[in-house]
Amino acid sequence: QGSRLFHPQDTVIKTPHAVIGGAEFIMMAGPCSVESEEHVKKMAKVAKEGGAKIIRGGAFKPRTSPYSFQGLGEEGLKYLREAADENGMDMITEVMDDEHVEMVAKYTDIFQIGARNMQNFSLLKTVGKTNIPVALKRGMSATIDDLLNAAEYIVSEGNRQIMLLERGIRTFDNKYTRNTFDLGAVPVLKKLTHYPVIVDPSHAVGEWDLVTPMALAGAASGADGMIVEIHDEPTKALSDGPQALKPKTYLKMAQKVFEVHQVI
Ligand code: PEP
Ligand code: MN
Repeated sequence: QGSRLFHPQDTVIKTPHAVIGGAEFIMMAGPCSVESEEHVKKMAKVAKEGGAKIIRGGAFKPRTSPYSFQGLGEEGLKYLREAADENGMDMITEVMDDEHVEMVAKYTDIFQIGARNMQNFSLLKTVGKTNIPVALKRGMSATIDDLLNAAEYIVSEGNRQIMLLERGIRTFDNKYTRNTFDLGAVPVLKKLTHYPVIVDPSHAVGEWDLVTPMALAGAASGADGMIVEIHDEPTKALSDGPQALKPKTYLKMAQKVFEVHQVI
């Protein structure tokens, strides 16, 4: 059902304040994790200033170690919802578990399915039964066909509002970058499917000083939007500090990204 052959027209997803997959490039920005009410509200203002219509932030975090910060849970969802509403923005947040879908649905405008859950078919089917848009992240070792098949699990349950996220994959050389940003996947996905494609340069490279060049490359690749992590004090961030852009850097990056989108 995701194939262009059967549905030639682009899927356009409408959230209260954004149109994803239309002419406009959609910026989504925010901290990796919702850390506190005050912090996420501060970051929402920065995100908006850079032209973001959607604020991101994790309340349930899929951490590599079980001893790392796991997120604020429902409390975090409330803070992110308020931060979005106070700034006339929409929110995106990760749902990690089947049993949380109903709760997260009460707050979010877009479900994020994390790279580690791309093939959690039970979770995919559960979000597929809702009418909330789903941002499906490519697994770190998933092929393009794996990603497309994962999307089928969602659409086969009835939910057609899907966007695909390229966030970097594991390759033989990830010494200097956290993952390998597979930008070739963007035009391929645009050719094979009608879904909007979003790039995530933050998780792809893992280091803040590499984010801007790859964000620009992501915009140039023909993506419909971008999701990027920001933090005012990256060294104190509860997760993914090294890849977070400070507000000033984010604002500069965002301006250039919109310019690139204009010329492609
Ligand atoms: C995130 O968006 O913070 C995240 C955990 O991303 P990924 O699933 O791509 O690792
Ligand atoms: Mn993160």
